[in-house]
Amino acid sequence: MVATLSFIDGKSVASAEVYDNIDPSSGRSLGPVGRGGADEVDRAVRAAQRASRSWCAIAPVDRARLLTRVADALERDQERLAVLESQDTGKPLSQARADAAIAARYFRFYGHAIDTYYGQTIPLSKDLHAYTRREPLGVTGHILAWNYPMQLFSRAVAPAVATGNCAVIKPADETPRTAVAFAELALEAGLPPGVLNVVTGIGAEAGAALSAHPGVDHIGFVGSTTTGSVVAHAAAERVAPVTLELGGKSPQIVFPDADLLRATEFIAKAILQNAGQTCSAGSRLLVHDSVHDELVERVIQCFGRVTIGPGLEDKDLGPLISRKQQHRVETFIDENTKGRILCGGTAPHVGGGCYFAPTVIDDVDPASAIAQEEIFGPVITVNTFRDEDEAIRLANGTRYALLAAVWTTDISLAHRMAADLQAGQVYVNTYGAGGGVELPFGGFKKSGYGREKGYEALDTFTTTKTVVVDLT
Ligand code: NAD
Repeated sequence: MVATLSFIDGKSVASAEVYDNIDPSSGRSLGPVGRGGADEVDRAVRAAQRASRSWCAIAPVDRARLLTRVADALERDQERLAVLESQDTGKPLSQARADAAIAARYFRFYGHAIDTYYGQTIPLSKDLHAYTRREPLGVTGHILAWNYPMQLFSRAVAPAVATGNCAVIKPADETPRTAVAFAELALEAGLPPGVLNVVTGIGAEAGAALSAHPGVDHIGFVGSTTTGSVVAHAAAERVAPVTLELGGKSPQIVFPDADLLRATEFIAKAILQNAGQTCSAGSRLLVHDSVHDELVERVIQCFGRVTIGPGLEDKDLGPLISRKQQHRVETFIDENTKGRILCGGTAPHVGGGCYFAPTVIDDVDPASAIAQEEIFGPVITVNTFRDEDEAIRLANGTRYALLAAVWTTDISLAHRMAADLQAGQVYVNTYGAGGGVELPFGGFKKSGYGREKGYEALDTFTTTKTVVVDLT
């Protein structure tokens, strides 16, 4: 089996130790992975520092051309990348194909965006010429989660390198292969060695070393709220800025005048996609009590049609990422949920993989763990509300605030809700928007801070320098 190794300064770099990459669809090994640590991180950061001097001096038009070529290479190899991703994560192949297409789109979008990213002139006075420059930060570190490895890589790295930074990426322990493949393809597409480096390894080793490295000028972290806080502390020691993209417990809020058929389709997809292991999963169904029975029945019927199997067989629902994650989901199904499980609630045995059945749990205590914590499985909880105020209270009643959706045909109600909901993104009569490449994304509260995606990411990876020239 081919080993997955770090990719530093344009070359594969072996580590003294390896660990196994486990296929969640079968429990078998997909091959060894280099267990990089402080040495590999230091080597990668130095390579990025060296590359940074010339990379940020390249004209934006040339950087744009190179990023577009990376997008071309990712599109050309879409099928190979999707297979690697599906094996690593267990996600259905068609979802992995969509992820590969979105990952390419990030490089194309930021390749185009950088061409039109300017500073400002400030009309201070006739004698003073004042202007701003948006300058790269230097070396950006990126610590990624395992649920959307290709998308997370591109959405962080494409704007960082587009704006003239050089990047060091620590992919999730469980899903290292597409990150290494992306770095190889970027080199092939013409990105100079050292602009984009990947260190494979374990979070507490390679991830911790990257967060603490004095040569890293910005850390972008995607993962759990607990680890995000640890990473932000390490960065604060040396006053390095951080972007935190953390967990969610996003509500789907359904009013009686909503198109229930359409809502059902989106509600089911938003919790089944990637087996519910999505930061923006719609994991709480808040429904007006007058349409509760009809809507919940529709969702149960939808869940009943779901096919389950290994990622490469491209069923509707793949396995969870690991045995540990499967156990975590099971621990939420406890005494408190007895009698409230309307469907699912079990871990089906499918070929040694880590599966969990689509699950609806009704009438949960809004203060209980299952209603408050991120489950990260295909599990949706249900609560009813009687009026707008109660809907808002329930929706805003967790420590997370990443996404929210409102289902209603009353346009005034929709806008009132959009203003009152605590969430980084609010959707009305839809959920998500394709890849959402163009839409600023990030959380309020414990879902994190800073923004990725869209034009705002260009600001995330640059800093403003103000220049004033006396013309007299
Ligand atoms: P995690 O926090 O366990 O790990 C995330 C990354 O941090 C991994 O690369 C891991 O190796 C690394 N890491 C672990 N310990 C570390 C340490 N001590 N120092 C530095 N790095 C360390 O999270 P996870 O279980 O891999 O991912 C699931 C979480 O990610 C969920 O909470 C999910 O909501 C969140 N997520 C958020 C977004 C978003 O955009 N908001 C997107 C995807 C996933």
